[in-house]
Amino acid sequence: MSDLVSIFLQLLLFKLVAPVTFRHHRYDDLVRTLYKVHNECPHVTRVYSIGRSVKGRHLYVLEFSDYPGIHEPLEPEVKYVGNMHGNEVLGRELLLQLSEFLCEEFRNRNQRIVRLVEGTRIHILPSMNPDGYEVAAAAQDRDISGYLVGRNNANGVDLNRNFPDLNTYIYYNEKNGGPNHHLPLPDNWKNQVEPETQAVIQWIRSLNFVLSANLHGGAVVANYPYDKSLEHRVRGFRRTANTPTPDDTLFQKLAKVYSYAHGWMHQGWNCGDYFPDGITNGASWYSLSKGMQDFNYLHTNCFEITLELSCDKFPRQEELQREWLGNREALIQFLEQVHQGIKGMVRDENYNNLVDAVISVSGINHDVTSGDHGDYFRLLLPGTYTVTATAPKFDPETVSVTVGPGEPKLVNFQLKRSTPPAAPKRRGPNSGHRGRVLPKKVQPRAARKKEMMMKQSQRVPA
Ligand SMILES: [Zn+2]
Repeated sequence: MSDLVSIFLQLLLFKLVAPVTFRHHRYDDLVRTLYKVHNECPHVTRVYSIGRSVKGRHLYVLEFSDYPGIHEPLEPEVKYVGNMHGNEVLGRELLLQLSEFLCEEFRNRNQRIVRLVEGTRIHILPSMNPDGYEVAAAAQDRDISGYLVGRNNANGVDLNRNFPDLNTYIYYNEKNGGPNHHLPLPDNWKNQVEPETQAVIQWIRSLNFVLSANLHGGAVVANYPYDKSLEHRVRGFRRTANTPTPDDTLFQKLAKVYSYAHGWMHQGWNCGDYFPDGITNGASWYSLSKGMQDFNYLHTNCFEITLELSCDKFPRQEELQREWLGNREALIQFLEQVHQGIKGMVRDENYNNLVDAVISVSGINHDVTSGDHGDYFRLLLPGTYTVTATAPKFDPETVSVTVGPGEPKLVNFQLKRSTPPAAPKRRGPNSGHRGRVLPKKVQPRAARKKEMMMKQSQRVPA
């Protein structure tokens, strides 16, 4: 089939299934759209705010889940963040389109979308910088061009240079030993960051995110960590150098899933740049300190990549439909990537859930921890791995696991208390960042499901 016919058919199909309007959404319009989607799909969505911008605008998130507002054990949390740079607006519009699409297709019983929404908790923050957006949009209306107008927040700060720098610590630890994950925040971190950054940090600490993408513009490429090079500045100059994480092959695959499902990103030549496969290590492109993507990886269990989605940071309204068609499949496939590797429960002998237990994979110097419900998620490429679960006062347990290309493999751990009772508290190099393991009473899944079904049936459609 010729490309032209295929595009025509796609457009036709699209018109039939998702009658959405393509326009730029100012703040009030964005809020209305989020609530509109929620009203159309009240049982599988929730709108919540993670905080406010400098000018007091809410940072609204739209959540998709079969139990909105509830973490179901073994169901991973995933997020999209758009418009962190206020003048890079395509991500914001694509996330609104995605929200309408997920809702429509869920209502149409599209099996792929139903499975995604029922098996995943998806959080969509269309704009992390609503104040910057308003400045950029107003400039656009008055035809004031300027590459950077509206990029920063209302205090003039670039939010993607505003997260605590944990790279310096990890590069030190890689050489000298020390924690390889969940690096602690500086004591006075709240005074060092902007309100939008603080809201996002509190958000990503409160939910056990597994996978994320952060949507930007100004290039077309999928960018993966690290963003900061090992020697960020040498005699005043920023040093560009490939700076891989211990999960480099996995990150490359995640980036490629996006670039190859995207209409043209994978071709590599875009906006006058060339990136093989349409992907790049952040630091090998240009070194950036205090970015959000590295912070996610170093402070939480979340694997985040940065998607640069358009040459023009503020594309004309007429471009939005083509952009949506170019990104739609990629946005869905990337969400589906959260279902790979291994996951499971970490419990003690009495089936109490162990929170903050550490899951290490031999050969990958980056651990993950179990969340508040005792469940953990470890994204891995297909292969055979030696995996160890540890928790203070418990004996470690090691298993060999073969991971296939499909669904994640379920690997539960049941740790035995160490005997004799553990010596005075000392944290090993791999212990969780909060250094504690809290047993939690397990509520049998069936009973919990039933309880939630009851809640669900009592809900009144809005
Ligand atoms: Zn940007």
